[in-house]
Amino acid sequence: MSSIKKEKEWANKYIRSIRLDNTIEIQVEIIKWPHPHTPTSSWHTIKKLDGSTSQEVIDELVENTLIDSRYFKVCNECNERNPIGHMHNNKICQSCAENNHGIVH
Ligand SMILES: [Zn+2]
Repeated sequence: MSSIKKEKEWANKYIRSIRLDNTIEIQVEIIKWPHPHTPTSSWHTIKKLDGSTSQEVIDELVENTLIDSRYFKVCNECNERNPIGHMHNNKICQSCAENNHGIVH
């Protein structure tokens, strides 16, 4: 699988566009941990577009969202992109925190 395709499939898990009557909304899934071990997720609308917006523009916005550090960060250790909710801190993801540093979540 090419890395671009992989990135796109990855993006489809966390970013979606939904078409309403006259608008298209770009939504991103926000993961929160109100209690340890029980994450909750919800979809937040981050952009409202006119219903006639072309697929190219939507794709570009999705790509821009993917590299937006308000929502996603790349782990310094495994170089995987993670939603903010799956980052241990600003630098490493939760898996690396557990596997490489023995931090239990
Ligand atoms: Zn990592």
